[in-house]
Amino acid sequence: MTTTLSPDQASKTTRVLIIEDDPSIAEAVQRIVAKQQGTGVIVGDGRNGLRSFFEDRPDLVVLDIGLPGMDGWEVLERIRDLSEVPVLILTAHDLEQEKVRGLTAGADDYLTKPFGVQELGARIQALLRRSQITPIAGAGAPEEATVYQDGNLEVDWSAREVRVDGEVVGLTKLEFQLLHTFVRHPGQALATQQLLEQVWNDPFGIGPERVKFTVLRLRRKLGWQDEQKDTLEAIRGYGYRYTPTGSRQVAL
Ligand code: CA
Repeated sequence: MTTTLSPDQASKTTRVLIIEDDPSIAEAVQRIVAKQQGTGVIVGDGRNGLRSFFEDRPDLVVLDIGLPGMDGWEVLERIRDLSEVPVLILTAHDLEQEKVRGLTAGADDYLTKPFGVQELGARIQALLRRSQITPIAGAGAPEEATVYQDGNLEVDWSAREVRVDGEVVGLTKLEFQLLHTFVRHPGQALATQQLLEQVWNDPFGIGPERVKFTVLRLRRKLGWQDEQKDTLEAIRGYGYRYTPTGSRQVAL
């Protein structure tokens, strides 16, 4: 794998949204982005950062956690409700629990201040490379049965709509594909590696941690962490098994 952007990527200007209230750090990030033929837009607070995100749909977000008003955690949560855009978080705390919190919340990478220019540049490149990967087709394909029901979960594949107890739950594309993969293999133990191949279509570019945290988010969104602990079982050192609890699937 090369470490520079391909001519194709470079010609299409990469847009990076930098949400950071420290101008010196924000400008340093902007310079690194410019070096990679990208354009970095700086926004100094969370609320306007979020607004800018939804207006401009950038290719990558560099997000500071300590922001005035709405903090980085909340910004990340709002972004992840609707988008799989790569997010690199910046934080002043070099704590393992902060890192875990960031990854659980859906950040793709994490950098502690102060960081080196080269390191940030390399992380940005790696995230952009990963985001070029096109997810596999299949989820919501028209030939499939359109509605799946299991207990309080209802999925309309063609409309890509997920409901829990009748309430619509917003899943990102990856979360939706992950759910689709589990549902297609009821009662079957799926290895993490297998999920990386089927859902991310990239067994080597990303780590098993990404699977773990996407599963955590899916669980949380579907309310599976409480009453339905056994619906999605984590198999230690191996992977996951989805076991439908309620009514059986409608011919998948
Ligand atoms: Ca800050």
